[in-house]
Amino acid sequence: MPELPEVETTVRGLARFLEGERIARVAVHRPDLRRPFPPDLVQVLTGARVTTLGRRAKYGLIHTDRDRTMVFHLGMSGRWRIEPATIEKHDHLVIETGPGHVLALNDARRFGSVDLVPTDLLDTWGPFAALGPEPLGEGLTPQHLKRAFEGRIAPVKQLLLDQTIVAGLGNIYVCEALFRAKIRPDKEAGRVTLPALARLVPAIRAVLTESILAGGSTIRDYAQPSGELGYFAASGNVYGREGEACGCGGAVTRFVQGGRSTFWCPKCQK
Ligand SMILES: [Zn+2]
Repeated sequence: MPELPEVETTVRGLARFLEGERIARVAVHRPDLRRPFPPDLVQVLTGARVTTLGRRAKYGLIHTDRDRTMVFHLGMSGRWRIEPATIEKHDHLVIETGPGHVLALNDARRFGSVDLVPTDLLDTWGPFAALGPEPLGEGLTPQHLKRAFEGRIAPVKQLLLDQTIVAGLGNIYVCEALFRAKIRPDKEAGRVTLPALARLVPAIRAVLTESILAGGSTIRDYAQPSGELGYFAASGNVYGREGEACGCGGAVTRFVQGGRSTFWCPKCQK
């Protein structure tokens, strides 16, 4: 499933082809993904100029000069194909820019979505209204987490996956950030100290930023005819490494927490 770093990398890759360009042609090849395509999508985007691109949580934002933003989510299997040699079965939305670049949104499992939202109403749009601060933005501070965790007995890992507390954090990155901050994932959130949270915030930023940089290093490939923007394999210190040695001399352990695998080192995470 594409996580925040992959969405960020996708947005940066798309920006190279879209930013400042006029959209010459839009084709929608089926009525829906997770939900129907907006009925006026082709009409609104055709002839519009893309002003900037952005990201909110795991959503990509394509802002246009028509006061509307195309918001896309990659769901489980979504990816953008850049300059595809041929249009394939799962290329559900195809955009052609003025200079003749072709971008296809491909989504075999169709858990993704495309919406058109008035740009000035994005903050209050349904899926965005309750989102917590961006993990890479200024709103995420140790004090914010301290307030959000106050009195909560739920495990800290579970609350970090709560999108109303921090937006867009997935399982892999929460495991890795807790490992770096030396916080045990099953610790009661309300008992995590401010100094520990002061380690956690930069740890969250670091794991995301490193992953974005790793994905960004492959951006140049996206300009190839078969280029794709979407999934790249994340690597970490604990995630997927059950039984391997930790630098502290302990061993990486896995347990199931809230239906998802948690990887951690019981020796150095307290
Ligand atoms: Zn360890």
